[in-house]
Amino acid sequence: MDTVDSESKPYFVLVPLMAQGHMIPMVDMARLLAEHGATVTFVTTPVNALRMKIIIEKIEESQLPIDFLKLEFPCEKAGLPEGCESADMLSGSDQIIKFITACAMLKDSLISCLGEKYPSPTCIIADMNQPWVGDLARELSIPRLTFNGSGVFPNLASYIIRHQNIFSDVKDDKEIVKIPGFPHRLEMTKAKSPVGVQRPGMEQFLEKRLQEERSADGVVVNSFYELEPLYVDSYTKTAGKKIWTIGPMLLCNRNTNEMSGRGNKASIDEDDCLRWLDVQKPASVVYVSFGSLAQTTLAQLAEIGLGLEASGCPFVWVIKAGDKSTDVKEWLSNGFEERINDRGLIIKGWAPQMMILSHPSIGGFLTHCGWNSILESICAGVPMITWPHFADQFLNEILIVEILKIGVKIGVEYPNQWARGEEDNNDNDVTVERDDVAKVVPEFMDGGEEMREKARELAREARKAMDEGGSSSNNLIELIKEYADTGKTSSVEP
Ligand code: UDP
Repeated sequence: MDTVDSESKPYFVLVPLMAQGHMIPMVDMARLLAEHGATVTFVTTPVNALRMKIIIEKIEESQLPIDFLKLEFPCEKAGLPEGCESADMLSGSDQIIKFITACAMLKDSLISCLGEKYPSPTCIIADMNQPWVGDLARELSIPRLTFNGSGVFPNLASYIIRHQNIFSDVKDDKEIVKIPGFPHRLEMTKAKSPVGVQRPGMEQFLEKRLQEERSADGVVVNSFYELEPLYVDSYTKTAGKKIWTIGPMLLCNRNTNEMSGRGNKASIDEDDCLRWLDVQKPASVVYVSFGSLAQTTLAQLAEIGLGLEASGCPFVWVIKAGDKSTDVKEWLSNGFEERINDRGLIIKGWAPQMMILSHPSIGGFLTHCGWNSILESICAGVPMITWPHFADQFLNEILIVEILKIGVKIGVEYPNQWARGEEDNNDNDVTVERDDVAKVVPEFMDGGEEMREKARELAREARKAMDEGGSSSNNLIELIKEYADTGKTSSVEP
């Protein structure tokens, strides 16, 4: 493996957003940097570190130079319940703002750690949603790169939408608006855009995030050039800064075994899960999961369940632990599980997603279009049925269905808010009806072979990009070399 020479000492500090979909790829990033000669400090908190216990232990055993710095998360000071240290634990706008405040409070403890126990970093890579890191990097005169867990296509569209304030005067959030300056025709409604349904009280944070995105030295993206070349080139011109595509970073894990436990401990015995998958026909099973953040109402869960039942297809269905567990358990046990019997595997809680997707019996993924899920599906050569919920997910749907042509839409027209609190909670909300699930799923599973072949081709391209000499591997080496010199400061004026 090509690494930078040991004379220069690249030392990266990684500050993820405390959310599973953001921490998982950054743990992979830490591994990739360390495997290529850099030293890494990964900033986390006690609850998040506990969730990632399995992967932290594996990394410690491997003796890679990665240190997990567990900073106390100031829940009490910010007014959050104790232990509320990850975005999936939040409910309502009020808690989101408190969570953002708590994250920003980490600045002082991180500065004092970097000044005492740790040497000065040569580069800091921070999630775009941790904009306070901009102040820290300037105080310490360290170059700063941003990362936001998403792909280049959604990053480019979001950059234009946010920095040109495209939707500021749009009153009707169902009006279709053209995104100017995009390399080809792209249109969307405000509701489906990453601006989405605005929450009050977030204005200051959003403005700070914009500023810090603009003043960052560059952007690191979990994607590969060959997947979205047009958008990589266009992003560089639009944002006027270097974009480093170094993914799919999950491929730093050499097998699905290495991947288990990346975001949490699986709530199902992995051998039991494999035994169920092993007896299914190749490419016959649809995997249904909406990631770590999206919440599903009880009424919507029932529609999905009844739709899957009527589809006649075998399925693996992940129901998150937080999705009104008692009511859901009651609904499932009220005849549904008995009727489904062995045709479906229901996982209540955290699923070993990559292990499932990589199994030859999986032929399709009904997904919320989170970027990690998309990359995982691509790497497993599995096409998708798209059911976006919020943030960049409607943009990702366009990429999958219209551009890469490795998926079909289930037909969602309106976003489903993240972190629903009492104020916007309605157990009767349904976005997709059972009949749509029952129609789209079998049609896709029976007729998806062409898309399956395209997805497999992309999987091969992804591996090539990450192999020695591939585009992502070369970018990673270049990135480390670029920030190997100690004493290099930010090249962008604040
Ligand atoms: N994930 C998992 N098991 C689950 C739910 C999620 O392993 O039960 C992982 C999934 O494989 C992915 C991440 O959590 O790596 C979710 O990230 P994504 O970007 O897809 O969506 P988000 O959760 O950020 O909305």
